[in-house]
Amino acid sequence: VAARPVSANQSRTLIVGATGFIGRFLAEACLDTGRPTYVLVRSAKTTHSKAQTVKDLHDKGSIIVYGSINDGEFMEKLLKEKKIDVVISAVGGNGILDQVSLINAIKAVGTVKRFLPSEFGHDIDRADPVEPGLTMYLEKRKIRRAIEEARIPFTYICCNSVAAWPYHDNTHPSEVLPPLDSFQIYGDGSVKAYFVAGTDIGKFTMKAVDDERTVNKSVHFRPIINFLNINEMACLWEKKLGRTLPRETVTEEDLLAAAAENLIPRSIVASFTHDIFIKGCQVNFRIDGHNDLEATSLYPDTPFRSMADCFEDFAARITVTATVTAHQSQHQHYSATKEEEEEQKQ
Ligand code: NDP
Repeated sequence: VAARPVSANQSRTLIVGATGFIGRFLAEACLDTGRPTYVLVRSAKTTHSKAQTVKDLHDKGSIIVYGSINDGEFMEKLLKEKKIDVVISAVGGNGILDQVSLINAIKAVGTVKRFLPSEFGHDIDRADPVEPGLTMYLEKRKIRRAIEEARIPFTYICCNSVAAWPYHDNTHPSEVLPPLDSFQIYGDGSVKAYFVAGTDIGKFTMKAVDDERTVNKSVHFRPIINFLNINEMACLWEKKLGRTLPRETVTEEDLLAAAAENLIPRSIVASFTHDIFIKGCQVNFRIDGHNDLEATSLYPDTPFRSMADCFEDFAARITVTATVTAHQSQHQHYSATKEEEEEQKQ
């Protein structure tokens, strides 16, 4: 498949996984560009919140198509009939290898000008987490090699950590509030990482999709304003809370033990947390290779949202539900908003 330029705002784009955590940001950002946006939804039978997401995306102008990427024949027909130029996949960790049939369909039609597989994290050819995170990376590497072998024009988005408190046991940390009673600090808390707002993951991914410079490259998101270690994250959040919180240390051994428990998906997050905050997997390589580009260099005029602003959003979601009593000492009790409580129940 030859790489041909895609004209901005006209490329017909298919988003796979738009009801998921990362996919929702991508679908919203895709719609913001004004291009025809097709959203593949696996099944009409779904949870209330996913059905609401589909309705919202439909109301914002996306075209909903029901089906699965596992159905190769259906995917080929869809790509051909809808004349899809760009495919962006955000299938979750347990569906990475489902993308093999999608790759086969893209190869068969031969008209897709750009494919973004489900990456949206670290550079999986460089990072080397312990198990069970490693298994996910081995699968993502298989997908990369299949795309390259099929000569499908691609872009790999390495957006690093989503802007949120980096809990070591939560796959979707920006859906929950940062700590309100104490911080867990990984190791000595000095290893830095890059934090990127979910909306920016969507926005900069859409810029990369239309950019000829990013064909067959990895695009790394390294906003220097959000280059922070976990101690700095804690201080930023304390500023928003207006009070300090105690810190407890989670050692390298603790994280390795949480990973070794092999509880999926929690242990996968523990292995990535170890890789980020102990081994420094986001910062232990330079982006100067032929195949690597960096988002702030590519788009210097578009600012990234700061972590401080993202924490401001979290602070706005807090509702004080109880005042401090004599017995409860200095601890204030907060509750998440109703919406968060509902999400947690599901
Ligand atoms: P989710 O599990 O939240 O969502 C996955 C989505 O893919 C759902 O919409 C699901 O549909 C859809 N899907 C799965 N299989 C198929 C299929 N066969 N056909 C069609 N649709 C399918 O995924 P995440 O958002 O957590 O993960 C997406 C990517 O982002 C992953 O690569 C992950 O590693 C990465 N990630 C990065 C983070 C970061 O901090 N940088 C944080 C979290 C994830 P359905 O509703 O039917 O289940």
